[in-house]
Amino acid sequence: MSDIIELLPDHVANQIAAGEVIQRPASVVKELLENAIDAQADHIQLLIRDAGRSLVHVIDNGLGMSSTDLRLAFERHATSKIKKAEDLFSLQTKGFRGEALASIAAVAQVEVHSKRAADDLGSCLKIEGSEVKLQENSATATGTSLAVKNLFFNIPARRNFLKSDAVEMRHILDEFHRVALAHPDIKFQLYQNDSELLNLPVLSLKKRVLGIFGGKYETALVPIHEQTSVALVEGFVLKPDQARKSRGQQFFFVNQRFIKSSFLHHAVSSAFEGMLSPGYHPGYFIFLHLDPKTLDINIHPTKTEIKFEDEQSIYSILRATVRHALGMFQVGPTLDFDRDPNLDTSYQQAQTSEISQPEVSVDRQFNPFADHKPPSKAEKQAWESMYQELQQQAPKEDTTPPVIFDEPTASVSTLSCFQWQQKYMITQLGGQLYVIHQGRAHQRVLYEQFLKQLNRSEPASQTLLFPVQMPLNVQDKILLESLQADLEGMGFQFSWEADQLSILAAPHLCTAENIIPVVREILERSQSEAAEESFSMSDHIAKILATSLAVPSGKRLEIPEQEQLIQDLFACTEPRFSPKNQQIFLTFESEEIEKKLL
Ligand code: ADP
Ligand code: MG
Repeated sequence: MSDIIELLPDHVANQIAAGEVIQRPASVVKELLENAIDAQADHIQLLIRDAGRSLVHVIDNGLGMSSTDLRLAFERHATSKIKKAEDLFSLQTKGFRGEALASIAAVAQVEVHSKRAADDLGSCLKIEGSEVKLQENSATATGTSLAVKNLFFNIPARRNFLKSDAVEMRHILDEFHRVALAHPDIKFQLYQNDSELLNLPVLSLKKRVLGIFGGKYETALVPIHEQTSVALVEGFVLKPDQARKSRGQQFFFVNQRFIKSSFLHHAVSSAFEGMLSPGYHPGYFIFLHLDPKTLDINIHPTKTEIKFEDEQSIYSILRATVRHALGMFQVGPTLDFDRDPNLDTSYQQAQTSEISQPEVSVDRQFNPFADHKPPSKAEKQAWESMYQELQQQAPKEDTTPPVIFDEPTASVSTLSCFQWQQKYMITQLGGQLYVIHQGRAHQRVLYEQFLKQLNRSEPASQTLLFPVQMPLNVQDKILLESLQADLEGMGFQFSWEADQLSILAAPHLCTAENIIPVVREILERSQSEAAEESFSMSDHIAKILATSLAVPSGKRLEIPEQEQLIQDLFACTEPRFSPKNQQIFLTFESEEIEKKLL
């Protein structure tokens, strides 16, 4: 019998190997951006078409390649970045395996133009499925322009494995954000289908974070900085009130390389101990700089894990640095309305204290109070009797209907209450004096209403007489598409024409005036939430709607409006906390006051 073992032809070997490095358009984005950075570019443009399916194109103004190097770059294990195995221990570049370009060229149609500063003429190379189609001189700018077209054109099975455009684009944005955050000294531009999504000039790290995630973090970033013999730690943590239930904004960079590390995450989380409600995660943008010799860099190209030589020291340094910064900026419990009683209990205590199943009358999956200690039975009884008290005080005749509420939930009482500083409602209930934050109270009432609405087959919404039009950029459009089902559950109805969004129907309380700001707010605040995290999306949107539609501080409330609001608040399942976990009211016992007035 004849021998049966054969060497695989190069293009087949390349295709197989490509599977490891290139899984989706976002992998191409990562490799090309890293190559541009390794080539010392200080301006990098990324152009995407069809969520990267038809085009991923990176243009840099870096070192460029000679025509021989350009051809060699596409060979497997062809790299200019290491020469011998020892070089691995002092690596300063992102790449070193010499695999990316060979892999990309095996599964796509690639066109590169490249020129070094010293050369008059550059060169152009076209490769399809590892096969060189053309190499010629090219009059091109200094640097490299590399276009990857029709990814997986020769592997339909892989092409079919790709997810929706929204999901693939989300992955691309994630990679882009990571690289752009790690290199604030490089100007980045991102285009999708010819429109510019992001333009990030060279400014400070803080400006880079704000440029990517929006000005909403302007006042939320707490700088951290610590230089020790083991490592330099710098960056920002987000104030505890920005904590989220999803792990949205968590970025670690080690020597400007994005990494994931549950171990470092634990160090940061433990620095926040006692400042976050259970189930909430802190946000951070943390940069560690260490001697490359103390790291295991022999990482898999698509993996983001890393090993440190001195894990324990890094853990303690990180924890202490974050804790110190939070203390310096006096982020933590303060003795005012912002004080969350949960902060008084340490995390451990909170864990061990008895927790009973909260009662939710609406939908067990939507438990808006999961973050808090559920109300005790006694508390619940007290609220119920208070609610009855409110009901009994209800007048027999009609009162002017309050204007801030659509559907009064109960008849309006004649409570003795008044508004103070156009911000608080002062009233007396169950023998106690109540100081109620009007804005937070209304947020809570609306939040519970929106959650209830989700369970109705026909959400309470109003069709707008004239649809409200708003222009949307591509990034917003992708985002809105991924939120559409949830938004419809809340009473929105949309239609699209090109870049123009028409809002046909909206939840109650939305008016022609506030509807655009409300939709903008939803987009702005959902921007960084991954499309896949949709399980908490409706809760997230209910919170945004509630906070943007609630009466603000500074608004005068008529007596009937105050009464209605107080009544609605105590009809809530959790009247104590706003959807953002802020305390809604303070109470004063008469003895307390008497003691002070002795
Ligand atoms: P690696 O980055 O691991 O070396 P790649 O396959 O990504 O492997 O790239 C191969 C080589 O091609 C690089 O080592 C580099 O010399 C060259 N190269 C790739 N992209 C660029 C670029 N944008 N500018 C200049 N040289 C590049
Ligand atoms: Mg590379």
